[in-house]
Amino acid sequence: MVVGSGPNGLSAAIVLAQAGRRVVLLEGNETAGGGLRTLELTLPGFRHDLCSAIHPLGVASPFLRSLDLAAQGVRWVHPSAPLAHPLDDGTAVLLSRSLTETCDGLGAEDGARYRRLLEPLTEDWQALLTDLLSPRGLIRHPVRHARFARVAARSARDWADEFAGKRARALLAGLAGHSAIPLEFRPSAAIGLLLAVLGHGVGWPFPRGGAQRLADGLAAILLGLGGRVATGRPVRHLDDLPEAGIKLLSVTPGQLLKLAADQLPRSYKRRLARYRYGPGAFKVDWALSEPIPWRAPECRQAGTVHLGGTFEEIAAAELDAWKDRPPRRPFVLLAQHSLFDPGRAPRGRHTAWAYCHVPHACGRDMTERLEAQVERFAPGFRDCILARSRLGPADMAALNPNLVGGDISGGANTLRQILARPFPRLDPYGTPLPGVFLCSSSTPPGGGVHGMCGYHAARSALEQVRPGI
Ligand SMILES: Cc1cc2nc3c(=O)[nH]c(=O)nc-3n(C[C@H](O)[C@H](O)[C@H](O)COP(=O)(O)OP(=O)(O)OC[C@H]3O[C@@H](n4cnc5c(N)ncnc54)[C@H](O)[C@@H]3O)c2cc1C
Repeated sequence: MVVGSGPNGLSAAIVLAQAGRRVVLLEGNETAGGGLRTLELTLPGFRHDLCSAIHPLGVASPFLRSLDLAAQGVRWVHPSAPLAHPLDDGTAVLLSRSLTETCDGLGAEDGARYRRLLEPLTEDWQALLTDLLSPRGLIRHPVRHARFARVAARSARDWADEFAGKRARALLAGLAGHSAIPLEFRPSAAIGLLLAVLGHGVGWPFPRGGAQRLADGLAAILLGLGGRVATGRPVRHLDDLPEAGIKLLSVTPGQLLKLAADQLPRSYKRRLARYRYGPGAFKVDWALSEPIPWRAPECRQAGTVHLGGTFEEIAAAELDAWKDRPPRRPFVLLAQHSLFDPGRAPRGRHTAWAYCHVPHACGRDMTERLEAQVERFAPGFRDCILARSRLGPADMAALNPNLVGGDISGGANTLRQILARPFPRLDPYGTPLPGVFLCSSSTPPGGGVHGMCGYHAARSALEQVRPGI
């Protein structure tokens, strides 16, 4: 039995089915996919990704790469450039697939420094990623990955202090901002550096037609292996689950506490209760009459645009979100799929997807502040809005119980919780209950669409529970 049909639940179910087990996956929502769903959130014909939208980890994931997703119709769309980061002077820093082009935009000194770090890491991206997405992270090959580890052991602010110019510093702030921890904390630099390596190594693509296509492709593979998916089946207590040798739960520690409070030993419950969730997300999707009128033309080339200006401004916004203060000028992560995937909107129309970090479970409507950041770099943006959907942390949690307080990573990305999720334990996927395992992004290697938490959890379960048990 697998509970939860996000990328980790689906991956776990596939691994069990590949091993010849009879697998049933239960999903509380009416549609499968979890963080991989695409819906007409605004107007008919406008297809928006509900959660995850950009998939460098998905296209690079060792497990997802091992599956024939193309045979299920999954096609990766690569925008001309992974990322643009506009500045107030009307220009933008571009992270393009080409390292040379990217370095040229950073100035001579910073460009050379960026190249010295990124070139060897990009050449070795597959080995680096395989280790980073393993249950024990970099610890497996500390010498081979010493160059990455040197940066990863620092905060984004420390890392950015090596760079003199505002362009490079702004780029690093935006990349590290994905960590949803203050840029003064470790391992914000590690997350930023990984995203840069992937940008050059594999790009930041997305599935044509929406993230749902990836979920549908995974579900089709599972069905092809004889597995079953039952939607509209919320599991409220562990005892509700039919008898099974292996029970894999794609839930976070807080949910496990509710599902099995009366069955778990006290010491384990205490440790689960200490698990820390991170800031929430406030998300807005737009149906647009035309492409976003960016002042900097480079922004039209990129699938993702980071809005927040300088390093200092982004750092202040992320610190605010962490410290329970809704940021006045939030750091906004925006994706513009329809520029590269026209089927996302009716002919000539467009979609845009964006979110910013806010305090955990924050109830404030951030639409105005978020749109002000877009307007700042794209004057006239508001005039293009035909309709919008807004989702705060409470709405997110209602749509997917794993988004506790709006936390999109399944738990805060603090150093301790990145090194050992949900807490240090010989088998992070196992629980004290025989045959019951965790497989959500609250286990290693953590958040993002890569399916590796599910893959490792299922492998661990298969090693421990023999067939017929
Ligand atoms: C706004 C937003 C933007 C994001 N952007 C990106 C991005 O661009 N790129 C990226 O890589 N990642 C992104 N993410 C993160 C990514 O979506 C998650 O890390 C990923 O989906 C986690 O996968 P999962 O399988 O662990 O859980 P989820 O995908 O969250 O799936 C969990 C599933 O379990 C179900 N479930 C939970 N409890 C029960 C129960 N008791 N009974 C039955 N079903 C249950 C839920 O309904 C849900 O369907 C984003 C997330 C959000 C919310």
